[in-house]
Amino acid sequence: MSDTIFAPDFVERPFWWEAAPPTRRSDAIPAEADVAVIGGGIAGLSTALELARGGLRPVVLDREPIGWGASSRNGGALAGASGLGRSRSNLQEAVDPEILAAMVEEGEQSFDDFEQLIEREGLDCDYRRTGRFTGAHSAKAMQTLAVRGDMLNRARPGEAQLVPRGDVGSELATERYYGGLLVQRAGSLHPGKYVQELARVAEEAGASLHGGVSVDGYGAEGSGFRVRTSAGEIKAGALMVATNGYTGGVTPWQQRRLIPVGSYMIATEVLGRERVAQLLPKLRVYGDTKKVLYYFRPSPAGDRILFGGRASFVDSDVRRAGARLHRFLLHLIPALAGTRITHAWKGNVAFSFDFLPHVGVQDGVHYALGCNGSGVVTMTHLGRQAARQILGRGNRPSAFSRLPFPTMRGYRGNPWFMPVVGGLYRLRDRLDGWREPGWP
Ligand SMILES: Cc1cc2nc3c(=O)[nH]c(=O)nc-3n(C[C@H](O)[C@H](O)[C@H](O)COP(=O)(O)OP(=O)(O)OC[C@H]3O[C@@H](n4cnc5c(N)ncnc54)[C@H](O)[C@@H]3O)c2cc1C
Repeated sequence: MSDTIFAPDFVERPFWWEAAPPTRRSDAIPAEADVAVIGGGIAGLSTALELARGGLRPVVLDREPIGWGASSRNGGALAGASGLGRSRSNLQEAVDPEILAAMVEEGEQSFDDFEQLIEREGLDCDYRRTGRFTGAHSAKAMQTLAVRGDMLNRARPGEAQLVPRGDVGSELATERYYGGLLVQRAGSLHPGKYVQELARVAEEAGASLHGGVSVDGYGAEGSGFRVRTSAGEIKAGALMVATNGYTGGVTPWQQRRLIPVGSYMIATEVLGRERVAQLLPKLRVYGDTKKVLYYFRPSPAGDRILFGGRASFVDSDVRRAGARLHRFLLHLIPALAGTRITHAWKGNVAFSFDFLPHVGVQDGVHYALGCNGSGVVTMTHLGRQAARQILGRGNRPSAFSRLPFPTMRGYRGNPWFMPVVGGLYRLRDRLDGWREPGWP
């Protein structure tokens, strides 16, 4: 592997942690709480904020520092309902049309709510409304984008526009895409800052946050739960699971319904704002239609490019995965030849077997899980929905609670089949005509 692609200050750490690392908060847990929330990412903190605002005393417990999970490792690309169909092209046939329409409407509303949350709470997280460009990796994929565009335009007229192949150059410096879809209501933020700001406001509202405390088990006690943690026991009136791609054996019902998948990212060295603006003139967030998709964006300062994808379907070495992503980036944007990378990192997302996010309650335990790779807005929304469920205040149940949360016979949380699925996905992209450097 060539070392010349790694800048001298290269680190295997999220770029976002330079400005906003995860935080430990307090080790001293209370003996009692109204609600114990397992997981201190966006979902857990959003739940805690809403609960605290609703007058309850939530306690958030994370095995690692608060914000350590996918919430501080993601691309910071935001979408409403347009994120829904991304991992499943046949969503229209697979889901009851009335429930799907309700999901799309709720997804779109969640984006408005998200923007309002940032404004209302004064969250300092470099949020910008940018629009999202999704590139078509094949001529056929333009048809899929047209269907997705229609679905979005039905919910909100004027939301999405197809970009013909001849106009792709005005969006980004590549000739690899056959056209694309532009979705207006999409944006970007600094995920490290966002999750820490969410922690700040949740704490100010009365939530108690504890990093470095793992939940090791729980049992029913009276009308609530006794929660066993690495720092002692907590008596809690309700229990909430917000562990997404890091869900383990403590909550086996949830674990059986989630497929943890590693996603990887790299940051280029500083390129300068002018150069980035030449390559990504509209400074949007970007993705594509491949089964094994790329996602990318300018850094908040506009002087680097951050690029991500499924560089591996087995638990891969971050440096090796970073080198692979670097190859993909240069293949997509050849003008970046000679550019080195300063950061490479990995995080877990959670896929569900129906490729949809879920919020609900099972055996008295609440959950918001299954981001399917697109969860900054969704998990903020579903965390709030779960809190309303606990508070008994929802006007109507979330559309994302209306479908069963499926599993697969014999599945216990070990995604042994992912290398096979990954191979098939890559084959699909290849059969569609996509050529990637360095793949057999
Ligand atoms: C590389 C990457 C890029 C992504 N890009 C985007 C993007 O551009 N846009 C987008 O919308 N989404 C993106 N996502 C997805 C998004 O980051 C997630 O959907 C979201 O952060 C999930 O938040 P969460 O709070 O549910 O889970 P996490 O933030 O993963 O938090 C779960 C937490 O649970 C804790 N935990 C687990 N078990 C226990 C236990 N027993 N006791 C205590 N704590 C426990 C873990 O330590 C972890 O901190 C990306 C994800 C990754 C990894």
